[in-house]
Amino acid sequence: MVEINNKQEKCSICKHEYTSIHTEVQPGVFLYVCDNCLEDAKHNFIWICMSCGKVHMRLKKLVIERIADFELKRAYLICEDMQIIQGIDICIECDPEGILNYMETRKTATC
Ligand SMILES: [Zn+2]
Ligand SMILES: [Zn+2]
Repeated sequence: MVEINNKQEKCSICKHEYTSIHTEVQPGVFLYVCDNCLEDAKHNFIWICMSCGKVHMRLKKLVIERIADFELKRAYLICEDMQIIQGIDICIECDPEGILNYMETRKTATC
């Protein structure tokens, strides 16, 4: 999921460090992630809004604890040890109502 090349780009998450580590979140859309943020991704789920560019970070433990749906919980538990950085089309900041529907429809496509 994470690729490395020689190009240095600004980290998409902290928008501070330069890094060559990147991941393709959607065909043709790359996110750059520095070492620090990659470290954060071990303990947090990281979502980046493709619409406004805002980064949303949630502690994995808290996210998993709050999931009532058994199937979904299992899917997230499988992801617990992985570094998950996902691009989302909309976020709660740019569309507080749309995000709820969006998360519902994405339930099965977490990994
Ligand atoms: Zn960073
Ligand atoms: Zn947004």
